[in-house]
Amino acid sequence: MKYPQVWDLDTFFKGGSQSSDFQHFVKETEELVDKLFASTSAKMTLAQLVNELVNVQKVMQRLRHGAAFVSCLKAQNVKDEHAVQWQGKLNELQAKLQNIWVELEATFVRMEDGEWQELLNHPQLSDITFSLNERRQAAAEKLAPEQEKLAAQLAVDGYHAWGEVYNQAVGRMEIPFEEGGETKRLSPGQLSNRLSSKDRKVRKRASKAYAEAWKKETPLFASTLNHLAGFRLNLYRARGWNDVLKEPLLINRMKRKTLDAMWSVINENKPKFYEFMDRKAKLLGVDKLAMHDIHAPLPSGGNEKIAYDDACELIIRHFRKVSPKLARFTEGALRDGWVEAEDRPGKRPGGFCTSFPLAKQSRIFMTYNGTMSNVATLAHELGHAYHGYCLKDKAPLAQRYAMNVAETASTFAETIVADALVQEAKTETLKLSLLENKVNRAIAFFMNIHARFLFETRFYEARKQKRLSVKELCDLMEEAQREAYGNQLSSYSPTLWAHKLHFHITGVPFYNFPYTFGYLFSIGIYQLALEKGASFEDDYIALLQDTASMTVEELALKHVGADLTKRDFWQSAMDLIIKDVDLFLEMTS
Ligand SMILES: [Zn+2]
Repeated sequence: MKYPQVWDLDTFFKGGSQSSDFQHFVKETEELVDKLFASTSAKMTLAQLVNELVNVQKVMQRLRHGAAFVSCLKAQNVKDEHAVQWQGKLNELQAKLQNIWVELEATFVRMEDGEWQELLNHPQLSDITFSLNERRQAAAEKLAPEQEKLAAQLAVDGYHAWGEVYNQAVGRMEIPFEEGGETKRLSPGQLSNRLSSKDRKVRKRASKAYAEAWKKETPLFASTLNHLAGFRLNLYRARGWNDVLKEPLLINRMKRKTLDAMWSVINENKPKFYEFMDRKAKLLGVDKLAMHDIHAPLPSGGNEKIAYDDACELIIRHFRKVSPKLARFTEGALRDGWVEAEDRPGKRPGGFCTSFPLAKQSRIFMTYNGTMSNVATLAHELGHAYHGYCLKDKAPLAQRYAMNVAETASTFAETIVADALVQEAKTETLKLSLLENKVNRAIAFFMNIHARFLFETRFYEARKQKRLSVKELCDLMEEAQREAYGNQLSSYSPTLWAHKLHFHITGVPFYNFPYTFGYLFSIGIYQLALEKGASFEDDYIALLQDTASMTVEELALKHVGADLTKRDFWQSAMDLIIKDVDLFLEMTS
């Protein structure tokens, strides 16, 4: 079987970024937004409100559909200026929709409980009662709508503007780096590729050049970071919120107890990973790993390649063992041009999956050149597409899952394939490097992300009292890293707060713990799939279908009978990863 490596976007709109179909679609969407805006008022009857909520979801779908098309266009050709213009237009419509929501939420808050219940009982809204309740509750805890609107307006040239400084500074950075006898000027992205070089000397030089370049920018970023945190804390204070984790936990629909249970299981199990790090240091011929050694490949690392068609067959075959429905879906997606995998110039790096809700389809973007990590990426993105497929018939608001469960299906799919690759590896070296990859991934979630979480919570606490200096930020970061890595490294990265994008993202606060949650939650689900065998498939699908309709605690309890606020579920997920560590230790003893 030959699988196409170029995706089909014409199904949605013919003619790429100059498509007249698309132009027409955006114009129609704009008219709908304006109409909706005009019909939103404080004096709507219950019937009008129901109608409004149905229509607002239709517009949401159209905007998602359009945004998916534009992001595909931008990814397949980074120089597509028309696509960039479309992006601007859609952002504008998105902002208008946001204002409509503020009005609607204010109406929700004003309604009496009895009236509210009557609204929720309406059959046209039965799919989205969770989401509506959530919005009403959140709005009630915020400032009055006029004040929230003003804060959002001021944020454009305040809060978000501070976040943008990061992108500008990174965009103009050129870091001198010696290579092949000449001094090249590399972008931070190019240089960070050298950080995972096989040659330790190159890694060391690269990490030194990287740290020096960022050090120059630390005064600037100390300013922006202090302002970002100051803005957020002031807004929280005005709303009467004391806990900096309140908003991120709300957004991720989870309890503090769950977060604490997860971190405590991770902390208790860290010593096992120290053994792994010790062994890896020996294999690399050093006493202790430095920060730049953690994700370095093993010296014996394999360079095995696998052709695209073979990778597709392999993924389908292994998916089938765990979930025949997932395998059937994957076959169709690969065959019908849902994947853009061709290795050609002009594409942006990285991979993603985006859904086109009006067509009930998804598209996957990546660049495939035959490595094992490409195979893992393809499986991962297919998992995302399957999640979208399971949700495709739900109401739009019941399709909007939070970041912490966004990675459930993708990690699940990736784990199926990663496990199979280890089991089927033809040589010991390949097996070892695949295992090492798996454990490395866990270490990134358990230590790297943990350090970022510790830093950010402590930084926000300290920022309540005063602005922090460059030195104070560096000290706080190194302390967090030492704690998260159990003092096992020979060097740390104290300026990480400056160079990690995630600290400067303003769209979502605390862009860290949801990653770790998503990963370990998914491994826990995978562990249950292994235990239960064929009977698990339908539970799994039902779980995915509910990801945007309840809290994570309710989700786990309803579909897999697990209490996320207790340690058992997390420990059983952890046990599965520790098996990999043990196998690695045994193979290298
Ligand atoms: Zn993902």
